[in-house]
Amino acid sequence: MRKNFLNDFKTKQEVVVFDGYHIYKDATKIKGLSLGNNNGEMIGRLLEKRGIEKDFKELSLDLTFNSLRSDLELWANYLELPLEELEVKLFDRTLSYEELITKDPLIIGINEKSTSQTKNYKFETAKSLYTELAKLTPFDFKSLIKFSKVFGLPYGLQEDILEQHSSPDINVQIPFTDIYYLFYELTIYRYYFSLFEAIIFEDTNKIKSLLERHHNIIAQMSNTTIDNITTAFSIAIEHDDSLIYSAKELLTEHFHNNHRALQILPDFEDGKIIPKIFFKDLFEYAYFQMLNALMNNSELRKCEYCNHVFEVDFEGRRFCPPLPFRKRSSCEMAYNRMKKKQKKGDS
Ligand SMILES: [Zn+2]
Repeated sequence: MRKNFLNDFKTKQEVVVFDGYHIYKDATKIKGLSLGNNNGEMIGRLLEKRGIEKDFKELSLDLTFNSLRSDLELWANYLELPLEELEVKLFDRTLSYEELITKDPLIIGINEKSTSQTKNYKFETAKSLYTELAKLTPFDFKSLIKFSKVFGLPYGLQEDILEQHSSPDINVQIPFTDIYYLFYELTIYRYYFSLFEAIIFEDTNKIKSLLERHHNIIAQMSNTTIDNITTAFSIAIEHDDSLIYSAKELLTEHFHNNHRALQILPDFEDGKIIPKIFFKDLFEYAYFQMLNALMNNSELRKCEYCNHVFEVDFEGRRFCPPLPFRKRSSCEMAYNRMKKKQKKGDS
């Protein structure tokens, strides 16, 4: 393995997974919950405030050039807008949060029962987090809740709900999330994951279409420099090598410019000062895993059952690896069940 500076960084961080996540129309019900050492009233108000504080208009432009077309279609369907109209609204930054909240649900999170049984897992043991996260799609609430029961909510309000929790600044604990900000993060994540996947498999056609979308919108934005951008881009698309080069460049740029930049902080351990990476949420860790896989030239494969990619941790693996707290791969089990059924059907 090549020397990769990221391999030297360790994290002791754990993620708290609550016992069940639920859909809330808005923050009203949450205000009435009694949740550990925090009361629901305070959390409810925080959730309402976040929606106002974070200006969706500022984020919306990101969505236009850092998204898969198929994902933007899901946004359009959910908001009951024609795709073209949504694209214009995002591009012109006229889609406001007030407009979004006319549709519910708005929040996904825990209830009073969810705090009775929680479990923790270490980030470092969750090898498949980044590939599993990419399987989620915007506005698929059912899959999001299923995912969260295993990995915890990927993004949202960080609040220390559990009293026995000794180190809230070390562990990731996300009891509630605003669905629009979460699906915004997911949409962008999925764009960069697709780019990552295309780089790994050297799928230059896919890179071409992903970059084209990105460049076209940037060109549209800064209409004076269209020529420069398109010329540079058309040079790039003539050679497969430079396409991969451009894709890697764009991905690195995203790690660099985005609020997802790695946070390296000193920690004092056994009398020594050690640099450690801290992660605020599951997306940050997932991007870190992606970066690591790229820098280590990790092998990725497509699962024989679900066709999604996973990182190969041993030579014989053919299916998505087992999820945290599980011994066996659910894709492998489903595949075996399918084969059995087929055999029965044949005989
Ligand atoms: Zn699978």
